[in-house]
Amino acid sequence: MDEANMRSLWREAALECLNEACRRQYPLTEKLFACPNCGDLLSIAYEPTGEEPDAVRARWRERRLSDDPLDQSGVWRFRECLPPIAPSHVVTLREGNTPIYRARFAAQYAGVHDLLFKHLGLNPTGSFKDYGMTVAVSQARALGARILICASTGNTSASMAAYAARGGMRAIVLIPGEDVAVGKVAQALEYGAVTLQVRGANFDDVLRLVRELSARPDVYLLNSLNPFRIEGQKAILIELLDQLGWEVPEHLVVPGGNLGNSAALFKAMAELRQLGLIARWPKLTIVQAQGASPLVEAVARGAKRIRPVAQPRTHATAIRIGHPVNWKRALQALDATGGFCVAVSEEEIAEAKAAIGRDGIGCEPASAATLAAVKKLRQEGKLAPSETIVALLTGHLLKDPDYTLRYHSGQLDDVPTGRLANPPILVEPCLDTIVRYLYNGKLSA
Ligand SMILES: *Cc1c(COP(=O)(O)O)cnc(C)c1O
Ligand SMILES: [Zn+2]
Repeated sequence: MDEANMRSLWREAALECLNEACRRQYPLTEKLFACPNCGDLLSIAYEPTGEEPDAVRARWRERRLSDDPLDQSGVWRFRECLPPIAPSHVVTLREGNTPIYRARFAAQYAGVHDLLFKHLGLNPTGSFKDYGMTVAVSQARALGARILICASTGNTSASMAAYAARGGMRAIVLIPGEDVAVGKVAQALEYGAVTLQVRGANFDDVLRLVRELSARPDVYLLNSLNPFRIEGQKAILIELLDQLGWEVPEHLVVPGGNLGNSAALFKAMAELRQLGLIARWPKLTIVQAQGASPLVEAVARGAKRIRPVAQPRTHATAIRIGHPVNWKRALQALDATGGFCVAVSEEEIAEAKAAIGRDGIGCEPASAATLAAVKKLRQEGKLAPSETIVALLTGHLLKDPDYTLRYHSGQLDDVPTGRLANPPILVEPCLDTIVRYLYNGKLSA
């Protein structure tokens, strides 16, 4: 890689405490997952250099033709916006580069003219987590960590395990001992992660254990509070804008679990505005499942704090989070951008997922909450049919085939058989019968 490619849009970068009353800064070379002074979350703060926006945009475009692995990554292509990490430490699976599809069936379903899906589920491990994981795992390698650790039963563990394997590091996944479907960690097993089911522990117990373990010098934590994951996830917005020729959509819709993605998109918007790459905010709308909606509830109360949900419930496991790590930044994002915070039911999620499927796209349940929310906002008159909307599909359809099968055969709890259900049909070995199915009940077209 030539020197020009190493250029940064930032003069300085440091870890900074998110607590306004504290705001201490620490060097990026310190391995910290919370502020040592006050215990709040850390984020990465930058000083801009003031490079010409057009020159930067042109360079990002040119890199699409390059054979350099960093340029081929949909994250590292935008490295001017990322923390400085030496290319020799970068662990990449060519993440990002995810397509944008114009919805037809789904747009009609929601009652809007222009609906785009950016399908983050088409990442190497099947979810948007790869955008952040490549940066956090590269930082782990730069710091000399040898063991990567997380508490997760889902997409975080799959992604961490893959990047650990690529980077030649050991991966440890901790999961609660009981009532966990081990099937959810199948990817982590395949990528060679040591998977420990902790007997008698619930998710909070397991999270406490990984935080304690991460104090060891050779261990690095990859749960949601890792600030480097947020940095990589900023590339979701930058890549989207690059794909749209820097036309800022009016509305961006994202599902919210731990709200890391919401925080990352907001941080990216703020930084791109500061750098002069965009002039206005897209509205950021955050969607939660009704049974796991502490943010929606706080907004409805007009409160400055969330009340955690003790027993979050939803089939959309990726957003089944009762106490989201990044709630403060999500509230700021809603405030600054004028987006909505929406709760959708199990039935609305399931129907929306099937509608997305009818466009030949397909996603996991949490992702479909976005379309359910667009439909709802349209019905409530909060969204004009002509607004340009981008919904982020966060995970791949095949992450949860059991859910999809149950929906189509009318066996999903809390969800009545929907009009888009499409169960398999048992037929006799008779040609005429089968021919009728070819032509919607008739014997020919
Ligand atoms: C992790 C995840 C989410 C939730 O994202 P947060 O950043 O935790 O809000 C949503 N959908 C999928 C598929 C995920 O893997
Ligand atoms: Zn602090």
